[in-house]
Amino acid sequence: MSKKQEKSEAELLKEKLFRSADKGAGSISDKEMNAADKFCVKYVKFLDDSKTEREAVSSAKAIAEKAGFQPYESGKKYSAGDKVYLINRKRNIILAVIGKKGCKNGVRLSIAHIDSPRLDLKPNPLYEANDLALFKTHYYGGIKKYQWTAIPLALHGVIALKSGKTVDVKIGEKDSDPIFCVTDLLPHLAKEQVKKPGSQMFTGEELNLLVGSRPFKGDGESELVKLNILNILFKEYAITEEDFLSADLELVPAYKARDLGFDRSMIGAYGHDDRVCAYPALMAAVNCDTPEKTAVTVLVDKEETGSDGNTGMQSDFMKYFILDMAKSEGADGYDVISRSACLSADVNAAFDPTYASVYEANNSCYINKGVVITKYTGSSGKYGTSEASAEFMAEIRAMLDDNDVLWQTGELGKVDAGGGGTIAKYVANMNVDVVDLGVPVLSMHAPLEVVSKLDVYMAYRAFLAFLSK
Ligand code: MN
Ligand code: MN
Repeated sequence: MSKKQEKSEAELLKEKLFRSADKGAGSISDKEMNAADKFCVKYVKFLDDSKTEREAVSSAKAIAEKAGFQPYESGKKYSAGDKVYLINRKRNIILAVIGKKGCKNGVRLSIAHIDSPRLDLKPNPLYEANDLALFKTHYYGGIKKYQWTAIPLALHGVIALKSGKTVDVKIGEKDSDPIFCVTDLLPHLAKEQVKKPGSQMFTGEELNLLVGSRPFKGDGESELVKLNILNILFKEYAITEEDFLSADLELVPAYKARDLGFDRSMIGAYGHDDRVCAYPALMAAVNCDTPEKTAVTVLVDKEETGSDGNTGMQSDFMKYFILDMAKSEGADGYDVISRSACLSADVNAAFDPTYASVYEANNSCYINKGVVITKYTGSSGKYGTSEASAEFMAEIRAMLDDNDVLWQTGELGKVDAGGGGTIAKYVANMNVDVVDLGVPVLSMHAPLEVVSKLDVYMAYRAFLAFLSK
């Protein structure tokens, strides 16, 4: 055994001046790791219950109501600690916990999105070809098309009838349900196909869903397989072919979220982006103590297609909610919004050693190193990003350190490797301080995405610290 050596001057100086090495999972106590695992059991349940934005809103509403949140009433005087929620068109939900000082000094915003990449049905989807019945689809969000062929798919959504009634559809989730799939070409005959670049291997019009093959019994008629499918749908849902015109029907992977790895340290699932931030943000709203400033948690739709529309972040829905709260407290709406601060709760790309060349190691986020703060997103010279200010970054890292939250910073891949955006810029445009904060994800936008349980829990701890501030 050698005598313990004293630290050299260089060593001491390094300790003082270098950015402390990212700590990672090794620094976490068993108690905290258990808390993370426990938190994620419920997250997995939320994932399975919430594969579409409508389902995520219903799940969030049920969790919020159980925790005492009441429907928001415009003009009503609320007191500190009151918990309210407001739903927009079944696809957005806002939850607010009224602060001790109300909203006059601004609100604390956590905003996540609850839509994920998928295949949607076209308005006129059903057709028959060579005695097979198929649905035409139109993909939603940024997908690698080949990933969506030859995997089990479930059909989720609603069909609105002219009578005003809506029919809920969810087929492919129960073990006894049928599933659907987009067929792929066998390797034996794919000699030409596999020579094509990945982006051209499948076209959007080739993502056709197989839905049936048996004909309706009848002589001399054409399209009997299609007729048989419509007959089944009529018996089950009382719909006809025309009713597809007024439907929101989405195809999502038919499997459940599962623990991943021998050590069960990760979760493999469809739709982590961005339920992996939506759920922790929701639970922070549910579990936070009465905050100083009113805490507002928003789950939005349409992020994956640019945040447009009345349920996306570019809608005035959230703004009007805050203006409405300000009005009933006698505060100026613009003052309230411009004094607010926001965590744009979204995922970042975790460093993947198999594809190391697209990442810059010093500025990437990693699985198991905690929640990731992303100062800016965008692409090609910071186009399309709001970028958080130095001052707001300082405030957030101090908050995370003060609350012992395991955190790291990340950039979305190498400069010029590609890029992407979040809802941050739309909130920043309202004159609000915003930074992206969320969970690192492997295989982002694939039908099976991977996250670390510890990182999910650290996201929850970060939102909780932020709302409570
Ligand atoms: Mn996202
Ligand atoms: Mn995304």
